[in-house]
Amino acid sequence: RGSLVQIKPDATDFPKKANPMRMSRYFLPVLKETPREAQIVSHRYMLQAGMIKQASAGIYSWLPLGFKVLRKIEDIVHEEQARAGHIAIQMPTIQSADLWRESGRYDAYGDEMLRIKDRGGREMLFTPTAEELVTDIFRAHVTSYKDLPLTLYQIQWKFRDEVRPRFGVMRGREFYMKDGYNFDLTKEDALHAYNRHLVSYLRTYERLGLQAIPMRADSGPIGGDDTHEFLVLAETGESEVFYDSEITDLKFGDREIDYDDKAACQAVLEEFTSRYARTDETHDEALFNEVPETRRKVARGIEVGQIFYFGTKYSDAMGAMVDDGKGGKVPVHMGSHGIGVSRLLGAIIEASHDDKGIIWPEGVTPFHVGILNMRSGDEACDAACEDLYAKFTAAGLEPLYDDRDERAGAKFGTMDMIGLPWRITVGPRGIKNGVVEVTCRRTGEAVEMPAADAIAKIQ
Ligand code: ATP
Ligand code: MG
Ligand code: MG
Ligand code: MG
Repeated sequence: RGSLVQIKPDATDFPKKANPMRMSRYFLPVLKETPREAQIVSHRYMLQAGMIKQASAGIYSWLPLGFKVLRKIEDIVHEEQARAGHIAIQMPTIQSADLWRESGRYDAYGDEMLRIKDRGGREMLFTPTAEELVTDIFRAHVTSYKDLPLTLYQIQWKFRDEVRPRFGVMRGREFYMKDGYNFDLTKEDALHAYNRHLVSYLRTYERLGLQAIPMRADSGPIGGDDTHEFLVLAETGESEVFYDSEITDLKFGDREIDYDDKAACQAVLEEFTSRYARTDETHDEALFNEVPETRRKVARGIEVGQIFYFGTKYSDAMGAMVDDGKGGKVPVHMGSHGIGVSRLLGAIIEASHDDKGIIWPEGVTPFHVGILNMRSGDEACDAACEDLYAKFTAAGLEPLYDDRDERAGAKFGTMDMIGLPWRITVGPRGIKNGVVEVTCRRTGEAVEMPAADAIAKIQ
């Protein structure tokens, strides 16, 4: 069965639609007051920037700005999964309890599972994860080793009735998760799938502007023996982590990798997991003490993903068997792999902000550049802003034009809070001198230049 990798995504496979916006027509309900319920900065800024609104405990509506970032993260996740040869599907959020009885998890899952009855009294549930349902799809359609390897994934809402929903989208009850499932003939093939996921996750997090460190973890209710969690270091993280500081120097970068090449993927796993890096669940003090003292770090981290190999746990329980090509039938080897797509917004903001607001990494920013008209209604200022707006859009970028008749302070405050990488300030004095001001959100550096140079600089 040839190469697993069907698609080599590039710019033409995933055209980015320019989606410009005028503030006067947008729905950006920025809060003036600091929301009191928010204990951590990402939660506070997401509320203040009008990205989300709580509907009930741990359940949020996604307002335009938040939804736009969520979609950008989702796009990157899809692109990297396609690159690894994994195939997208969509499974329902409401599932029958019967499947979960087959695996024994209906009772084992406990109070985190939201259980529902339909009008006929049939027991249903809102999916907290989907090993059972995907195994059911597999066993109904795949009977031969010739159809392997196969990795199916989805990005779908999940529900877990967390004891303590908190920190906004970081620990929601309803949350958006990418969950992927590999089906392989042998343990060796399944471990290759595990490694492929590790590589694709490293690439995904880096494109999101994050450093997420793979750490040996505990498998919990999913079961299994091989598992790594990906953690973003942050003081507000809920996990305690122990690691060799050398690990923070590692970068996947833009190296090319052939996802079908087992040795190449294994080498990446070894490179990124050979140094000590564990969460509190698997921490081993004696092993940790073998790391030179100056490199021993204890910190906190946010879990943004996890990969598992769990062998034949579900295929045995649910009868997912294939012909092995030698006249026998064998249960498939499986693993599951998750990325917390909605939690990532919180993690990115925790990792990238200042006291004025969010600082979006280029890869996920809701708009690329803010255009700030200092004197709306002034003919020359309006014309210059409209021209910038049209030219950025034509260049395939997404400008957000603050065309409102508002105080300058309010306009600057909003732009700083929503954290676009670049701001162009257009005022009457500058226009008279033939220049606009270009400000970098991250460094605060502001430079005056002709509008044409500003467009060239930001593109
Ligand atoms: P946690 O330890 O934070 O409870 P988990 O280990 O239970 O997470 P997994 O089953 O590994 O979660 O799910 C995959 C990913 O989904 C996690 O790595 C995390 O990023 C995300 N996730 C899990 N629970 C939540 C939640 N309640 N809210 C937002 N994201 C979540
Ligand atoms: Mg959990
Ligand atoms: Mg966990
Ligand atoms: Mg986990």
